[in-house]
Amino acid sequence: MHGILTSDSSLARAEVGDFTHYIVDDVAGRQGRPMDDVVNAIACWGDTEAVRDDPGRAAISAEGTRAAPDTEGHHWGTVCPTDPDYRENLLSRIETIGNVGDVRLTTPGFPGTEFCRCDRCERRFESSGLDNRVTWRTETITQFIQAAANRIPGDLVVTLYPDPYPGNLRDRTGLDPETLEPNVDGFLVPLCSISYETTYWVESLARGFARELEGLDVPLTIQISASEAEADRLVDVTRQIEPCTDAIVYGTNADDIDTVREVINHRQGVSQPSTPV
Ligand SMILES: [Zn+2]
Repeated sequence: MHGILTSDSSLARAEVGDFTHYIVDDVAGRQGRPMDDVVNAIACWGDTEAVRDDPGRAAISAEGTRAAPDTEGHHWGTVCPTDPDYRENLLSRIETIGNVGDVRLTTPGFPGTEFCRCDRCERRFESSGLDNRVTWRTETITQFIQAAANRIPGDLVVTLYPDPYPGNLRDRTGLDPETLEPNVDGFLVPLCSISYETTYWVESLARGFARELEGLDVPLTIQISASEAEADRLVDVTRQIEPCTDAIVYGTNADDIDTVREVINHRQGVSQPSTPV
């Protein structure tokens, strides 16, 4: 299956491919209006506006580094996942959007191995009775995903950080696919580039995730997007990763939708009568 991801509501209605992911709430903090018949994507804790308004809400490392857009390695602000008001508002938002259509969570989890060491997270870890911080972080995120799944009638797709090396997802973010399996209806991995000048890493990561998730009864979607890639290059990338995944979703906007449509049509055999078999 091939679909598109877009923040443009007209493109979301353009019926390109088999399915559509529509960005409703993004990491800048912008909130939009959910749409029916699409998978509505909601940023979880990735919220630059919230962090800018109140820097004390950002996830923080033991050295005092905040997860903010001006911090090296961070492209947006990330709120501490144990912030109780933020968590409750996020769950309400997921419920509201989930009553319109299926839901995809983007940026769920802790924003790196060194987060979060705020006073509240330290207190909660100490009182948890757990002797391992990775286990506590994983429990924290798993409970949130469970709560989100319980609030919505439709499907829940969870975005994973693109690191399939065994154990790394858990260490980095607190996301453990095996533990999450009963509560999710899909995993999604973004493998985005600007132009896919090289592609070996895309195939390697896709293959790694296929292996890491192969025992789980949860479909995998791989997201690719490349604002500057030619259609031929995207067709090549698509062909390489198709054996590893159940679906591919193309990040797109008004500037490159024609390229994405061409790629999807090519892979689905539409309007390609002269293609050699
Ligand atoms: Zn914290």
